[in-house]
Amino acid sequence: MRPMALLCVLLVGLVGIAAPTITPTPWRYGVIYWVGEVPENPEAYLNMATNWAERVFVFWNLTPLPRPTGDWRSPREVPAASREEAREILGPDFPLAGVIVPGPEEGSFWALSPLLLGEREIRPLTMVVFAGVNALQEAFCRFGTAGFFVPSPTPESFPGFPDRQVAALVTESEGPVVVVPLEGRPPFAPNDDFLMLLAHEMAHWATLVWAEEHGLSMDEMPRLLTEGLADYTLYSLHSRPLHRLPAKPVEIHSVSAAWARRGGLADVPGSLVYSVGLSLVDFLVRKEHTHFVRVLNKLPEWLEDWPSSLAQWEVEWRDWLGGEVDPGAVVHQRILLDGVFAWAQLVEPLFPDVWVLVRGIEQEEDVGVFWDYIFGPIPTPSEAALEEMRKRECVLQLMAQDDEVPPEIRGRAMGYLERLRGLWDAGDGDGYAATFIEALRSLGAAFRMMGAEAP
Ligand SMILES: [Zn+2]
Repeated sequence: MRPMALLCVLLVGLVGIAAPTITPTPWRYGVIYWVGEVPENPEAYLNMATNWAERVFVFWNLTPLPRPTGDWRSPREVPAASREEAREILGPDFPLAGVIVPGPEEGSFWALSPLLLGEREIRPLTMVVFAGVNALQEAFCRFGTAGFFVPSPTPESFPGFPDRQVAALVTESEGPVVVVPLEGRPPFAPNDDFLMLLAHEMAHWATLVWAEEHGLSMDEMPRLLTEGLADYTLYSLHSRPLHRLPAKPVEIHSVSAAWARRGGLADVPGSLVYSVGLSLVDFLVRKEHTHFVRVLNKLPEWLEDWPSSLAQWEVEWRDWLGGEVDPGAVVHQRILLDGVFAWAQLVEPLFPDVWVLVRGIEQEEDVGVFWDYIFGPIPTPSEAALEEMRKRECVLQLMAQDDEVPPEIRGRAMGYLERLRGLWDAGDGDGYAATFIEALRSLGAAFRMMGAEAP
């Protein structure tokens, strides 16, 4: 049996999550899938999505706003066994920038017409909306993620999801996809978490549309830049343009200022690309006479040789962030670098007090207390806690499947999965919990390499 085939068996055999209902609603700019229950007032959320899409497109100078072609309220329903069959039925007249998405009934698809941006046809957006962040993280096995955007989905980039029906919305989509929860994780998520996530993810959509217009591939753009642009858009629209804030850069960009003391623009770790990317875009906008669009206009040239662009800005960016570094920012940086949020989300079923500890982190030593706690004695887990941990086995499965993970580590991940299965079958809850933590710890380096991120 080839390793991949074995893994599929493991996936099916180990993880039995009840499939949630998925309800599509046509939307002015594409389609929204509600995973689980449809909220009481879906119109309110549809309006928010429309509103943010429009504000973001205006901010990016992608105007006049995209116009739906055809009647977006009642997309054409195509009964078919597959997308390919649906496309065949639609025939050659169906526009290239149109997308075929799963319809309201099984065995039916919706043919979404392209949007018109000026003369240009662009693909409509698919939004996948979860009631809460926990369900989102479990569905995609992305613990530590608050929401995400996929410019051009490929099945290879999302192997082995626990829930294949939900996964298919992303992996089989023909157009860009935004995945967000209606509610984040209290008390860390603000009340307007949904709006803030929307603004960030819609900015990624604008980036994609902008990049395609300039013959660039968003996938090839550096993450420091794409996340920086998204957060800059978010802050500009949610509060006000950063350059209008009276505070000094070192205060707005405290984590970046802390990073600038120990690293540079060329070696920003994954968990810091948001903060440092935001500071870089803010720095560039101020350099370009506070015009965001001027930065966009120069980007294609800068991207031609991004490393030398970064090198050229490095000294000036560092000076700009100069000044006294806030000790709190140094602690926050430690939390991000260590992936504390991702770890806490992974192990929370076993450690009921884990969030109390995370909230209590005030100094760098407190981060050590956090590690001592989760790598210390494990309270005897309840049935419910074990069930929750079982859903997290996908983390090890993804690691075992990832081509970029060294074979030795992939093999160890497989070994742990087999041991966990044995302990589960034997009903050894304590052994299962201890082995799970050992696996996460022993594979921790690889886990971080796979891009564990704080929200
Ligand atoms: Zn992002």
